[in-house]
Amino acid sequence: MGFADEVEIALDEVVAAMPGGGEARSGQRVMARAVAETIAQGGHLVVQAGTGTGKTLAYLLAAAMSGRKTVVATYTKALQDQMVEADLPMVGRHIRSSTGRDFSFAVVKGWSNYLCLERVDEVRTSMRQGQLDGMVEQASGEEVDRVMAWAETTPTGDRGDLDFDPAPSTWGALSVSSDECLGPSDCPFAGSCFPLMARRRAAEADVTVANHALYAIDLAIGGFVLGDHDLVVLDEAHQLEESFTEAFGFRLTGGRLRWLANLAVRVLGRDDRVGKVRELGGQLVADMRSHGAARVHTGEAAGLNETLGLAESRIEALLAAVVGAADGEEELTRRRKRLIRSGRSLLEDIQTARLHLSGPSALDLVAWIEMEDGRQPILKVVPVEVGPVLEENLWARRTAILTSATLPMNIVDRLGLTGFDPRTENVGSPFDYEQQTLLYCASHLASPSSDRDTWMAGALDELEALIVAAGGRTLALFTSYDAVDQAGEHLRDRLDLPMLVQGERPPKMLLEEFTAIEESCLLATRKFWQGIDVPGPALTLVAVNRLPFPSPNEYLVKTWSELADPAGWWKVELPIGATRLAQAAGRLVRKATDQGVVAVLDPRLAGSSYRSKFLDALPPMARTTDREEAERFLRRLRDR
Ligand code: SF4
Repeated sequence: MGFADEVEIALDEVVAAMPGGGEARSGQRVMARAVAETIAQGGHLVVQAGTGTGKTLAYLLAAAMSGRKTVVATYTKALQDQMVEADLPMVGRHIRSSTGRDFSFAVVKGWSNYLCLERVDEVRTSMRQGQLDGMVEQASGEEVDRVMAWAETTPTGDRGDLDFDPAPSTWGALSVSSDECLGPSDCPFAGSCFPLMARRRAAEADVTVANHALYAIDLAIGGFVLGDHDLVVLDEAHQLEESFTEAFGFRLTGGRLRWLANLAVRVLGRDDRVGKVRELGGQLVADMRSHGAARVHTGEAAGLNETLGLAESRIEALLAAVVGAADGEEELTRRRKRLIRSGRSLLEDIQTARLHLSGPSALDLVAWIEMEDGRQPILKVVPVEVGPVLEENLWARRTAILTSATLPMNIVDRLGLTGFDPRTENVGSPFDYEQQTLLYCASHLASPSSDRDTWMAGALDELEALIVAAGGRTLALFTSYDAVDQAGEHLRDRLDLPMLVQGERPPKMLLEEFTAIEESCLLATRKFWQGIDVPGPALTLVAVNRLPFPSPNEYLVKTWSELADPAGWWKVELPIGATRLAQAAGRLVRKATDQGVVAVLDPRLAGSSYRSKFLDALPPMARTTDREEAERFLRRLRDR
């Protein structure tokens, strides 16, 4: 009997032992076998497993039975929680009972998710001496007290274990990034340090769970964070290219300069050199605002580049002063070391940004300014391509399983996997989409690309009629905030149903209300297009206002598209749009008894030359362009 047979039998046993019993689904078996065969033979596997397959259990079981040290990286925390609370304990019980072998798993997060005991000590010392620690000046005193009290008892130091959500300024004052950490050889608290303990647990665990960003950072720094492993499972792989690209890049903000000045003032006091770095924080923000949210091309943005040049020389002067200062008490020495580490990291990023902006440079980077939360400008600088890095540091070194419910059709090419000839599988979904769902396209509307106003007016009327037929229970997804607001206003004027509109309350609260109030409608943008899991009658209509192509301010995607020319739009933007629509449609059926309609209020789904790319990415739903048929379907569900 081969390894794949053993895994399939074990899968049956594990599923039968689940509460309520049952049998492994056919797609789940195919997936478990494919993962087992890939582990046994080497190479890579790219597997699409639709909603409801039970893919997590399939790959975790195969990985655990192989005895290979495994890292699983996901995009969302929700999937990590599901693994830790349900799948991994189940797999562990099976391994222990069937082999007598122990099995352990660990979750590792980014450095700044953990409390830093060195910072806690420093703040406590300042308080004892009746001084105000410069780093907590911006933080809420009450929150700092609560976190300090928690520090006495927490076994993990993990921010997620706190019973309240501290403001970023509070948490930032009591945690450090990996750049600011003194490191095990210089820190007196290294023996009980929370992030170091989390890494030690990961090094000993059979399976370590992390997120995409942390996995990318680990690749970039040679495995220091997650340690040696033989196998990696990259779940929610449709997000890999974007999340790895962001993690391989860096961001410059006015806040980083001010933060460095705050660190420096505790070492050098009110030194003129500190003030000069601090004032550049404001100048950098002003330069970014005057450039506006847009790509920053090489040779452009002279003012911004000049400010970065000044920042470079002032930080160098600051660091020279700190390096040259005599050692003082132990605490001052620690502050100096932290300041030097942070300063060098910031300096390196500024120098790279300047090289790119001054150009021409050999660095394949793309830079743009965006407004975080619509207000704070950030300069983002990222590599244009992640494929070459992954080829060298990942695909050539260990077996990888890439999986998702919706995989872009060009993922193998985009991630530099083509030369490694990966095995590809699509194990489908156990749900009967043909019977349970209806895909409706409003083909009679004007095209949004040629007559936006006429289309929008028609789309809103269409949405209103469908919501009435569904009795609320609608997730309406839009490609812009403006469209969300317009729809909110239109629907509130006409319908007596609870309308939950993104931006009016925190996302978590909106989702809780949407799940709890069956007749409610949730109107939202792309932030809500994945990770929403609302099974049952609270969701029977998913409406998408227009085909979700990348918007003009997705600068990274636009750069990929330019570089892929000729036909960059077909090669890059079209597959992304198709994957996004499939993700939106995937919100509808979350369990075997769910039914409903996916309504696309964009006639291009029915009449464009590229419609098949979108339709092929969707589950095999029954289709119609007759609104009356869609309304009948919804009314039947509403009135049952
Ligand atoms: S090792 Fe780093 S993170 Fe840990 S306590 Fe020391 S400075 Fe903080």
